[in-house]
Amino acid sequence: MHVDRRQLCWTMLDVERLVDEDHPVRAIWELVGRLDLSAFVDRIGSLEGGAGRPAYDPQLLVSLWIYAYSRGIGSAREVERRCEHDPGFRWLTGLLTINHHTLSDFRLAHHDALDEVFTQVLGILSAEGLIALKTVMHDGTKITAQAGPSSFKQEEQIRKHLAAAREHVAAMGDPRREEETPRQAAARERARRERVERLEQALVNVQQITQAKRPGYARARQRQIGASATDPEARIMRHGDGHYALSYNVQISTDAAHGIAVGLDVGQAAPDYEYLAPAVEQIEERLGQTPDQMVVDAGYTSRENILAAHEKDVELIGPWVETDGRVQQRFARVGVTDAFLPDKFPYDPASDTYTCPEGKRLTARDGHDRPGRRLVRYQASKTDCRVCPSRRQCCSGNGTYVRSIVVTHENPVVSAFRSRHTSPETRSLLRERGRVAELVNAWLKEKLDLRRFHVRGLAKVGTEALWAVLTYNVQQWIRLRWRPRFGAHIA
Ligand code: SF4
Repeated sequence: MHVDRRQLCWTMLDVERLVDEDHPVRAIWELVGRLDLSAFVDRIGSLEGGAGRPAYDPQLLVSLWIYAYSRGIGSAREVERRCEHDPGFRWLTGLLTINHHTLSDFRLAHHDALDEVFTQVLGILSAEGLIALKTVMHDGTKITAQAGPSSFKQEEQIRKHLAAAREHVAAMGDPRREEETPRQAAARERARRERVERLEQALVNVQQITQAKRPGYARARQRQIGASATDPEARIMRHGDGHYALSYNVQISTDAAHGIAVGLDVGQAAPDYEYLAPAVEQIEERLGQTPDQMVVDAGYTSRENILAAHEKDVELIGPWVETDGRVQQRFARVGVTDAFLPDKFPYDPASDTYTCPEGKRLTARDGHDRPGRRLVRYQASKTDCRVCPSRRQCCSGNGTYVRSIVVTHENPVVSAFRSRHTSPETRSLLRERGRVAELVNAWLKEKLDLRRFHVRGLAKVGTEALWAVLTYNVQQWIRLRWRPRFGAHIA
């Protein structure tokens, strides 16, 4: 049969039938329609019937972005293109065309309103029995920033680039550019000013990193003395597969009952333990109560976190990394032999003394309080040690030839945590944590394709992460509550 591509024709289109009854876009529209979106409306200056161009209905824009993220689309230009030909997007918009600037501005301009929407969705999921708050799994994942490795500069390089960028700004209005349209000139001017701002921010960040006094992170700090000229707020972080990249640390709390994400935080600090206490508070703020249990990996189990969780009436479950091996290595390095390690000094509670292998007593001298523990130093007498035939093996390295040992008295809450960290229940919950918490991370990266943020800067990536986790929760609602109405379960 002959193919005629020169013909012109009209086609009938039933917009309502663009998508099937069980299409997820209908579920998104329904769920978003149940939300109070007045926080978005309050911020939109131009409303239908008022002066200026009518604003789009927030229900449409929120639904569009949730649907876009659910399809792994994070580009406003791509959403605009999809609105022209993709049935799901066309059904949502009712064939309206929406400029990518409008989409892009809406995505980032309403963080607080979006945060409120996230909480409202949790309220709906909780009311429908999808959140139990019995056990919450908490985990973090590193998501790459919108900045390549070559954008990372040392302080001196940043100063050079900044000087050059300032010269470019000063040279704006160059008559050689007169062929540009006013719009092109404005865009070029904005790009140059933004580059200067980014480089200034990079310089500030480098100075902050240089001045940071965090002895435990000396090596990490060395690696970080510099900043990205493209996204100065990103930090070099180690990812799960061992590679390093400019990234942000995304922390997610997931209710174990049905895998709903009940909290989200995005930060610049790579160590995870800093995020646990704020995560517990966030869950309480969003859902009005704290979980019974929080299950975490070893990156979160500091004494401070164990106590902070206890104060909130939350049972912290996680592995405990014993440091006895490190203590022994320290003694071995200075020449103390195995027979004189601290565990070879038996304790006598009646006299509160330790006895050394030569039968001499060590008595309590001074104590120091640390979070979750008290350190007490027990010391032998100078007279005993100076004439002791074993002093070289026992006191080697301390210069004084007077032996002391430091004993840790744990807070009872910490002791209780340590006593249960290897129990079968804890091991079982930790296996469960891997399944639940890491599923959310994998979902964000694989299904929503959020391996790299589409935007730059801590505030903007925080908003994008919120869109992504909100989308994840909406997808869980579709899977668990909406799809079953049609007699189908989707994995
Ligand atoms: S050096 Fe002091 S503490 Fe060590 S074995 Fe001799 S007497 Fe005991």
